[in-house]
Amino acid sequence: MEFHVLTLFPEFFDSPLSCGLIGRAIKAGHISVTVHPLRKYGLGRYRQVDDAPYGGGHGMVIRPEPIAAAFDDILSRHPGLWRIILTPQGRLLNQQIVRTLAERRPGLLLLAGRYEGFDERVRSLADEELSIGDYVLAGGEIATLVVIEAVARLVPGVVGNPESLREESFSNGLLEYPQYTRPREFRGQRVPDVLLSGDHEKIRRWRLEQAIKRTLERRPDLISNKTES
Ligand code: SAM
Repeated sequence: MEFHVLTLFPEFFDSPLSCGLIGRAIKAGHISVTVHPLRKYGLGRYRQVDDAPYGGGHGMVIRPEPIAAAFDDILSRHPGLWRIILTPQGRLLNQQIVRTLAERRPGLLLLAGRYEGFDERVRSLADEELSIGDYVLAGGEIATLVVIEAVARLVPGVVGNPESLREESFSNGLLEYPQYTRPREFRGQRVPDVLLSGDHEKIRRWRLEQAIKRTLERRPDLISNKTES
C-alpha cells in the first residue's frame, strides 16, 4: 500500500519511518511512504505557505493554493490516492475507519497542518477529515504517523502472524483479554491457573469472558455501539 504525506516538516518522519514495524514493512516492500515537503509548492521567492487570518486573530493560517498545487502534482503521478486532512475537527479515528482505509483505499495522501490550521477552502480538496483525539497537537505530523501505523498493520504481510490481529483490542468490538508471561508469580500476583491448564477450550472461554468484563468496566460505549450497529 502506498502512503504519501504532505508536510512542512519532512525531517520529522526520518526516524519513525526507519525503525520498528513500519521500517521493516517499507524495507520488505509491503508499504511505501513518500514524504512531500509542502514548502516546495509555496508561493513566490520565499515559498510562502501561510498568511494572517482574515478578520484578525492570532497565528497564521495555511493558504489553499500551495496545498492545491501539491495535491494536483502528487495525484497526477499517483492517481487514485484517498485524500485525508488531519485536523482536530475531523471524524474521530477508530479501528473501523482504519480497517476501511486498509481494505478499500489503494493508497492514502495525508495532509499534516501546522500553525492555526488550514484555510477553510482546503476542506473541499479532501475526501475525508480525520482527528486522532479530542485534544490539539502543534502539528499534524504525529497524527499522520498514527494513521500510517494503524493502517499499515492491517496490510497483508506487515504483521508476521495475522492471527494476532484477529484477537486484539477493537478487532471484535471488545478490548483484549489480560495477557501474562513469565514469571508465574510477580509481587504476590499469580498467573491465573486456567492459562497453565493446557485446556484450549477453557482458555478460549476464559479469555472471552475477561474481554467482555474488561470492556464493560473500561469502555462500555464499545458494547453499546456494537449492539446498535
Ligand atoms: N486551530 C485549529 C483548531 O482549533 O481546530 C488547531 C490547529 S493545530 C494547532 C495545527 C495542526 O495540527 C492542525 O491543522 C492539524 O493538522 C494538527 N492537529 C492538531 N490536533 C490534531 C488532532 N487531534 N488530530 C489530527 N490532527 C491534529
